Amino acid sequence: MDRNYFEEMEAKIPHGKVRTRFAPSPTGYMHVGNLRTALYTWLIARAAGGTFILRIEDTDQGRYVDGAVEVIYRTMAQCGLDHDEGPDVGGPVAPYIQSERRDTYGKYARLLVEKGGAYYCFCEKTESEEDAGAFNRAADPCRDLPMEEVQAKLDAGMPYVIRQKIPTEGTTTFHDAIFGDITVENSTLDDQVLLKRDGLPTYNFANVIDDHLMGITHVVRGSEYLASAPKYNLLYESFGWEVPTYVHCSPVMRDSQNKMSKRHGDPSYEDLIAQGYLTEAVLNYVALLGWSPKGEQAEQEIFSLEELVKAFDITGISKSPAIFDRVKLDHFNAVYLRNLSAEAFCKVAEPYIRQSVKGDFDMAAIAALLQARCERLTDIPEKVDFFDALPAYDVSFYTNKKSKTDPQISLKMLEAAVPMLEALDEWTVENIHDGLIDLAARLEVKNATLMWPVRIAAAGKPVTPGGAVEICHILGKDETIRRLKAGMAMLASC
Ligand code: GLU
Repeated sequence: MDRNYFEEMEAKIPHGKVRTRFAPSPTGYMHVGNLRTALYTWLIARAAGGTFILRIEDTDQGRYVDGAVEVIYRTMAQCGLDHDEGPDVGGPVAPYIQSERRDTYGKYARLLVEKGGAYYCFCEKTESEEDAGAFNRAADPCRDLPMEEVQAKLDAGMPYVIRQKIPTEGTTTFHDAIFGDITVENSTLDDQVLLKRDGLPTYNFANVIDDHLMGITHVVRGSEYLASAPKYNLLYESFGWEVPTYVHCSPVMRDSQNKMSKRHGDPSYEDLIAQGYLTEAVLNYVALLGWSPKGEQAEQEIFSLEELVKAFDITGISKSPAIFDRVKLDHFNAVYLRNLSAEAFCKVAEPYIRQSVKGDFDMAAIAALLQARCERLTDIPEKVDFFDALPAYDVSFYTNKKSKTDPQISLKMLEAAVPMLEALDEWTVENIHDGLIDLAARLEVKNATLMWPVRIAAAGKPVTPGGAVEICHILGKDETIRRLKAGMAMLASC
């Protein structure tokens, strides 16, 4: 065995700083749990002034999806989770794609055999037998084969796998930063395959080799990997390597019983963005799904990414599963939309406004009506669908108790409003506002009694973003007068 190889690999491992990695498999979408893992992993590195690494885990070629790696890069970039090392930016322990590291795993598997932590197994087992662990490892004829026999079989070209040699007795204890010490009986662990017949590693082997060779100090991942952690520990021990800090995060649930899953239609990060959420709001909400701040910030909900870096602490991660709550996310999104500058809001809102407003209207003025009134950007098209064309509407909209209006009063109001508006020289918000207020005073009615029918006639909808003044202003003088006259005609004929 080439000792130099292993020494060279060891020599490349950076030491002395926190190093974390996000290690997604290229499945084609970033589900919410994955995004949260990426965020926590990034935060641990950034909070410690450490290094954040992106590693692509594509050992399971069967699951490979075209364009999936791009989804990962795109999501990370949009979320501001920048990586210091990774397939695209390189780094001291490249390559960062598992399929490009395949030679490494075979070498380490053979090293582990030498060290007594693994063995060649020549038995034929189907994948399903393997998955079910439906065989007695103590009775495996290969586990204790003398080395000469092993060599003879290898020389004869017999296909083999390399299995982990789990101690037959005793217990294994590992420590997790969230779950504390966990001890399991070794008899409950299976001699899992480390290297498959095709020479490719299993995920369970590759992640340990990579985490060691990449100098990973904190392994952050979903709690579905907790059950495998004792076997990882035994691997580290057999190699004589330091075990990293494990941070297993409980799942993100759709409800109290079910994990979120793409199969059940739960949204990925990209789905959420398409559903009108802002990246910053999603990240903020996801950060709090299973983590809570402490001390002075215990009650704080809104955190920018920089604030999260300052506030984040592993001890704030919860053991219990978190439930993904749309209503809560909507609330976060509304807050983020409101907190944008008017220009920034207009920029994100415009494509949505344009879905229903094709005409030549002032986008900034329409956006200003919407900013405090939407939870998701996708709420927008329906809210502004009356600008291009007056919808057919029901005369009953003119009746409003609070504004003291009915069709008859409304007709009177419109008859008074139209000449006043026609006479305005300049079509400004101020002029329209003052003109209407002044007219209401002259007519000796509440402002609302005049504003209500004007708004209904202008928009044709009982609920609109913005009041009569803003809507008339955006519509322009001619269109406003045209719509108000149409309203009068409708009221006169009923
Ligand atoms: N590739 C694994 C996944 O996507 C990552 C597990 C880990 O972080 O170790 O679930």
